[in-house]
Amino acid sequence: MFVFQWNSMRVGERVMVHDDLDAGFGLAPGIVKYVETRDHTPNDVTIRVDGETSQLVRPRRHAVHMLPLDRRFSCWRCDVVAKASNGANASNEANASNGDGQRAAA
Ligand SMILES: [Zn+2]
Repeated sequence: MFVFQWNSMRVGERVMVHDDLDAGFGLAPGIVKYVETRDHTPNDVTIRVDGETSQLVRPRRHAVHMLPLDRRFSCWRCDVVAKASNGANASNEANASNGDGQRAAA
């Protein structure tokens, strides 16, 4: 997210936020709860993540996406999520073919 987008965020705005404490950088929906404006530096933004815990987070600017998601700009966290999900799919396919192989052998 660009600085001008970050500084234009307002309370109540829906966003998607990466969990930087999660090794997979999972992307979760959330809502802007607090915006602390600052002079000459980007604002501090607090987001309530949707879910059972309704956790409050103060993410880095680049860990937040505005909605609708704009895929024109690369995001290394989204790339990690995509690679992990592709890897899981490939692994599932491999397991499925192994299962077929075992059935064929039996
Ligand atoms: Zn991302």
